[in-house]
Amino acid sequence: MSDCLFCKIVAGDIPADKVYEDDDVFAFRDISPQAPTHFLVIPKKHLSDLSAVNEDHEKLIGKLVRIGAELAAQEGLDGGYRVIFNNGPDGGQIVYHIHMHILGGRQLRGPLG
Ligand code: 5GP
Ligand code: ZN
Repeated sequence: MSDCLFCKIVAGDIPADKVYEDDDVFAFRDISPQAPTHFLVIPKKHLSDLSAVNEDHEKLIGKLVRIGAELAAQEGLDGGYRVIFNNGPDGGQIVYHIHMHILGGRQLRGPLG
């Protein structure tokens, strides 16, 4: 999608601190990290939010989770980490291209909100 910030990052039109890339998945560090390690894992395909996910995307979303876990391990988050999808306005979603936050490197405390 031409007007989407994260599509522009995937295309290289906006610079980002890339952590990982393959044919389907792109990962990069959050510009405003909320923990010592904070990166985003996204599908290259534009999907606005979780309501856009259908059966055709099940493999892709599964891969997103697997790659996220592998990258967390690579980043040395051996003590654990938090995985967040902010979804929709009430969920605090700001960028409407699905992204999985991975945060770690400190003790993360609740509540979730
Ligand atoms: P959301 O609230 O939509 O789940 O989170 C969007 C995230 O994208 C925020 O944590 C924000 O800091 C991050 N972000 C917004 N613009 C940019 C950008 O241009 N580059 C990077 N690397 N992260 C961004
Ligand atoms: Zn997009």
